[in-house]
Amino acid sequence: MQTSFTPAQLADPHVAESEKILRRCVHCGFCTATCPTYVTLGNELDSPRGRIYLIKDMLENGRPADEEVVTHVDRCLSCLSCVTTCPSGVDYMHLVDHARIHIENTYRRPLMDRLIRGTLAAVLPYPRRFRAALMLAKLGRPFAPLMKRVSALKPFGAMLELAPSSISGASDAAIPGTRPPETKRRGRVAILSGCAQPVLDPGINEATLRLLARLGIEVVVPEGEGCCGALVHHMGREEQALDFARRNVDVWIREIAKGGKDSGFDAIIITASGCGTTIKDYGHMLRLDPEYADKAKKVSSLAKDITEYLSTLDLPKQEPKKLNVAYHSACSMQHGQKITMAPKNLLKAAGFTVRDPAEGHLCCGSAGTYNILQPEISAQLKARKVRNIEATKADVIATGNIGCITQIASGTAIPILHTVELLDWAYGGPKPAKLAAK
Ligand code: SF4
Ligand code: SF4
Repeated sequence: MQTSFTPAQLADPHVAESEKILRRCVHCGFCTATCPTYVTLGNELDSPRGRIYLIKDMLENGRPADEEVVTHVDRCLSCLSCVTTCPSGVDYMHLVDHARIHIENTYRRPLMDRLIRGTLAAVLPYPRRFRAALMLAKLGRPFAPLMKRVSALKPFGAMLELAPSSISGASDAAIPGTRPPETKRRGRVAILSGCAQPVLDPGINEATLRLLARLGIEVVVPEGEGCCGALVHHMGREEQALDFARRNVDVWIREIAKGGKDSGFDAIIITASGCGTTIKDYGHMLRLDPEYADKAKKVSSLAKDITEYLSTLDLPKQEPKKLNVAYHSACSMQHGQKITMAPKNLLKAAGFTVRDPAEGHLCCGSAGTYNILQPEISAQLKARKVRNIEATKADVIATGNIGCITQIASGTAIPILHTVELLDWAYGGPKPAKLAAK
């Protein structure tokens, strides 16, 4: 694609990067067929190619974002299915990240939109605030259907509907410290406790710690970790996202530098693929910060999804189990991190029969805060995803991202677990409570 940025515009490193990305696009349109919003809405402007044109026009003319650009960029899930499909290697992820920052800096959203976005950014990344908000949401739940009838209040209605009916207390898994292995030590890792996940489902990191301990892995839960920044990053709140990234980089680099030959980590383990995609991008996000660029690159190189790490440990094959597992690959897992086979191979080796739902490349509609901010498109994608999963006649669903777990669980009676919870059970851990009846 030809571009006509001026030398003055290209002096801005963000614009220079976007220009390079834009030039790779050859308008072929292959990406439209696998874009969930194009497939759902059928509008070229809700396809990757359409958004690329809108973003190009906005950036090239150096103008503030307008309602049209905001509408179509907001509808993008950042699922990155288009990146997987594109034969020309267009880095749509960093282009849309830039567009979201430009929108945040140049467009004044309507009051309710500002209110909901401000609330999400002030609550979700902070576990204590998030837990308190979920308690309140339980009280407000009966009003959800009413709110969903008023256009401006729809996101609040969606938020109330997504809130779980029971909320667990704070988990020991998030307490900082070192968990020694139960057998001869064969590795040492740090783990990201996360922000929303330990509140919504603390069992995921508890299962991870149990499994790693049995496999001989020492696990450090570093003091001071926080949200990875993904939630606000996808809202275009660059400075807040970079602050979260810097804080985590500081924590992990401090742990690595504590001294002694055993102080290093084989990996930084992440159990939510949405966070994994962002942490693997810290090196890029902080590339222009001379104090953090190298440290962030190091952190990104150590970041591993739990299934990626477990695949390096040669887990022994287990006896077959009479349990069919539909594996739902989160977009951040398959498109963001390109991890496609590892979770399924681990489940198969653990004795489960794995089934692939049709249209596995399409997003379930969760996408961070998307199911709150775009509840109608999200609901259509959820219904489609659930239909495809239920068609597999599986006994249980496995996936690697808390957002997908919450989204899909609200649409089906089939129990849904994190992949690591099934693996923990298969390798000597307790049977997950959600499978009590199986
Ligand atoms: S990230 Fe997903 S929703 Fe956005 S343009 Fe690409 S395929 Fe479509
Ligand atoms: S597939 Fe790639 S090159 Fe083709 S239109 Fe989409 S982004 Fe552009």
